[in-house]
Amino acid sequence: MKKTVKAEIISIGTELLRGEITDTNAGYLASQLPLVGIELQRMTTADDDTKKLAQVLRNALKNSSIVITTGGLGPTQDDLTRESIALVMDEQLFIDAALEKHLRITFSQMGREMPPANLQQAMRIPCAQSLPNPRGIAPGWWVEKNDKVIVVMPGPPREMLPMWQNEALPRIKNRFPGEQIQARTIKTFSIQEAKVAELIHPFFGIANPTLGIYAKTDGIQVRLIAHGTDAAQLLDVNTHKIQQILSPYVWGTDTDTLGGIIGNTLSQRGMSLATMEDYTGGLLGNMITDSALSSQFYRGGLITGSDIVKIDWGIPAAIIEKKGTASCEVAEAMAAVVKDKFSSDFGLSVTGLSYKNSSGGQFEMVCIGVADAGGTKSWEQQFMWNRNDSFERAAVAALFRLRERLIDMNLLDYVK
Ligand code: AMP
Ligand code: MG
Repeated sequence: MKKTVKAEIISIGTELLRGEITDTNAGYLASQLPLVGIELQRMTTADDDTKKLAQVLRNALKNSSIVITTGGLGPTQDDLTRESIALVMDEQLFIDAALEKHLRITFSQMGREMPPANLQQAMRIPCAQSLPNPRGIAPGWWVEKNDKVIVVMPGPPREMLPMWQNEALPRIKNRFPGEQIQARTIKTFSIQEAKVAELIHPFFGIANPTLGIYAKTDGIQVRLIAHGTDAAQLLDVNTHKIQQILSPYVWGTDTDTLGGIIGNTLSQRGMSLATMEDYTGGLLGNMITDSALSSQFYRGGLITGSDIVKIDWGIPAAIIEKKGTASCEVAEAMAAVVKDKFSSDFGLSVTGLSYKNSSGGQFEMVCIGVADAGGTKSWEQQFMWNRNDSFERAAVAALFRLRERLIDMNLLDYVK
């Protein structure tokens, strides 16, 4: 049997240790490693300090075949990753002429003079190959020595992500050809985590694929990881069985988004959508414009911050007065008004408010309305979450309800 390749992730930056920046890189990388059959042993956060970082790197190299670092590749004095690795590898840093040329070209393309401090980003040690960074200045490194590998990437996630996918991952697959591993994520909404666990309980007894359940703002996700030569087939069979059990809560898999699914359906049929949102302050519109097709189906939206504006746009004052601004009746009126004003096939609305219950607990009350050729429909939901999570949850809920409506109207099928 092949020995499992072990890895460690080091997130570098004093700002991470101080809690000023949340470490999202480590979480992302941790979710990627099982897919290449690599076992993550430890995640460490390290200070921008050469000696301390060198110590963390030495420890990591003792225990793991591959160490992945992010951060500390900037041009300032506190960017010490290159220096620390040089120390640990016992090699001298030198300026790589090709890297320097590339840096100077990048700066001149931006119409800027290269500050002298950026020259350190053209530095390398002999056992490091540089990894191109199409989204930024700092190149990464692929360091290989004494049967150990260090993958060195920049801290900003928008730079780290493409470098990981395009440069690091192919090299890792090539250097550590392991057992084939594949993953699938099944995305659900409007069902609780414990209920999902209860319904798919028998699948937890299976050795391959293994199962995990995660709560995200866009719903509960079930992640399946299969290994071996028949991994793809095992995933397909078990995904299908789980989707049957969890239908009608399943709305997509892997990289699907609700905005994208709705966008595909509406644009394929030449249908249109408009939104009116109180409470979510534009988040719903934003999730819709995330779909690359949005210009084809999204007529636009209104963000109303007060009842007066709602009334100005045509929501009957009497309904607001009688039922309250966060009510199903107001949500339905908002959806109907925006459908009419924007001459769209569908109107979608969110309204809501925060309130404290008698024991002082904070609650969020959200109502969603959908208007279409068949009339209007509404849903009421309450959350106990913080406000920002509740906004996101409310916008996702609105999209999920619209999706249900599209299914009712035979414009979309359940995921099977
Ligand atoms: P650096 O490569 O150290 O110059 O990183 C620059 C910036 O990238 C930091 O100020 C953060 O905004 C971001 N960053 C660095 N490390 C992380 C991380 N682990 N997770 C998320 N963002 C990060
Ligand atoms: Mg830094």
